[in-house]
Amino acid sequence: MDTIKLAAALIPDGDLLPPEEYERIYPERERAPKAEVTRLAPSPTGFIHLGNLYSALADERSAHTTGGVFYLRIEDTDEKRKVDGAVESVIRSLKYFGIDFDEGAEIASPLNVYGPYYQRQRAKIYRAFVKRLIEQGRAYPCFCTEEQLNAVREEQTAGKKTTGYYGAYAKCRNLSETEIYDNLKAGKPYVIRLKSEGSIENKIAFRDAIKGEVTVTENDQDVVILKSDGIPTYHFAHAVDDHFMRTTLVIRGEEWLSSLPVHLELHKVLGFKPPRYAHTSSLMKMDGETKRKLSKRKDPELSLDYYRKAGYFPLAVVKYLMTLLNSDFEEWSLKNPDADWRSFKFRIEKMSRSGALFDLDKLNDVSKTEISKLSARECYEFLNGWVTEFGTPQDKAHFSDAEYIIKVLELIMGVGGKKRRKDIERAEQGVALIDYFFDDTFRPEYNYRYGKEIVNAVLDGFIAAYDPEDDNSVWFSKVKALAPAVGFASEMSEYKSAPEKFGGNVSDIAEILRIAVTGMPNSPDLCTIMRILGEERSLARLKAGKR
Ligand code: GLU
Repeated sequence: MDTIKLAAALIPDGDLLPPEEYERIYPERERAPKAEVTRLAPSPTGFIHLGNLYSALADERSAHTTGGVFYLRIEDTDEKRKVDGAVESVIRSLKYFGIDFDEGAEIASPLNVYGPYYQRQRAKIYRAFVKRLIEQGRAYPCFCTEEQLNAVREEQTAGKKTTGYYGAYAKCRNLSETEIYDNLKAGKPYVIRLKSEGSIENKIAFRDAIKGEVTVTENDQDVVILKSDGIPTYHFAHAVDDHFMRTTLVIRGEEWLSSLPVHLELHKVLGFKPPRYAHTSSLMKMDGETKRKLSKRKDPELSLDYYRKAGYFPLAVVKYLMTLLNSDFEEWSLKNPDADWRSFKFRIEKMSRSGALFDLDKLNDVSKTEISKLSARECYEFLNGWVTEFGTPQDKAHFSDAEYIIKVLELIMGVGGKKRRKDIERAEQGVALIDYFFDDTFRPEYNYRYGKEIVNAVLDGFIAAYDPEDDNSVWFSKVKALAPAVGFASEMSEYKSAPEKFGGNVSDIAEILRIAVTGMPNSPDLCTIMRILGEERSLARLKAGKR
């Protein structure tokens, strides 16, 4: 068979460069010996999920803790799945979580010399290599139709054989020159397949950076490398791109582990040295008693938009994911509470081989803790960012008075106190939490534990005594002074020694006032709340609270 002639007939493009040229165009990167070059290679489907962030964080850390490069490549070989604006959305979403690319699609960088970073724009590179493989007799055209392939699969399934295009089932592998040209003349569509030289009798020992020693079976499938539309498959594009973009460490989901033998054979036949691989386990969650993979259909928390809409503190999400990536991160954080999380020594080898368990409650705890470390002004900025994007018109109006909100936040967060309060978990919840500081969103539920007479006597008594200038101790002595009139104990000690003698105690008096002023039985320091609300509003609420 004249494979040179065949290659020219199958890939007639006159303007392809000789494959060797690409070694010159995309030379080895200048980098320190241990510096890793990693990439995120999403399909532009518009759905960016927690697994992408998890993986991106592993990529970003592997690159940036070693002085390497982290780049973005868009795997857009499947036109049908493409969504407009998806690339910007990947970049924006990751940026929100503090993850930046050094290079790649839509990244303005002087480093962008390994592009184009969209696979569709790299068609000529792939075709040059496919052509070379055909010339070398290592790839061939396959004219099998969908129906023929299905029939083979059914036959294999019925005979309990491995399915696929290999060995005797690889019908087009042995087409004669005449048959091929007849098919071409008849205008039959074709794909290009690898002519595999592997055998399932052979095992390959392979070291995965996460899974450790893995033994895989050699590939014997004549996989498709170029589809009938002239666009490569993932397998082929992966080998060519990661070689010429000089990726040193491919971090990807474990669903690709089963394709590894194909990738190793492709690298061999192309004359490339394979990169190191790290196959990450899927993120899991507890569903009742069982552990299962996070699912796009069942779990809204898989989508990254979920975290932005709910107003998670981005650093908290990152730190929580870091605890899943490297289990010693948590201990390190406790020992170094004020250190920048980026100074932690991340190592891909420390990642867990089995699926990491994602627990929303734990994330909530981390989020509360991170928010509690902010100054009131920083917290305002964070909440205001969320309000600008997702808040109601009322939220926006409230947040236009920054100084008022900051005063509220100082109280809510316990700024200046012995220990910070951790009441704010997320922006959405935090913004709702302070609704009672504004009349238009103050929706009290007057769930008093006492009858009308007692409630009104307490409120009237306090209204008569109230002076907005009072400091905390005078304010509290006035609350205490209301107790005897309603048969309550003004001293806790007094109450504890003979509770049956009293209708309640001073804290029950305070609760009545609290319900009237805040609408809730629990709140931070009431005297301070009244000071923030001011005289007029406090008095109006005390009056409105009467039954
Ligand atoms: N485009 C592939 C995916 O989204 C990338 C896999 C890889 O990182 O190699 O699954």
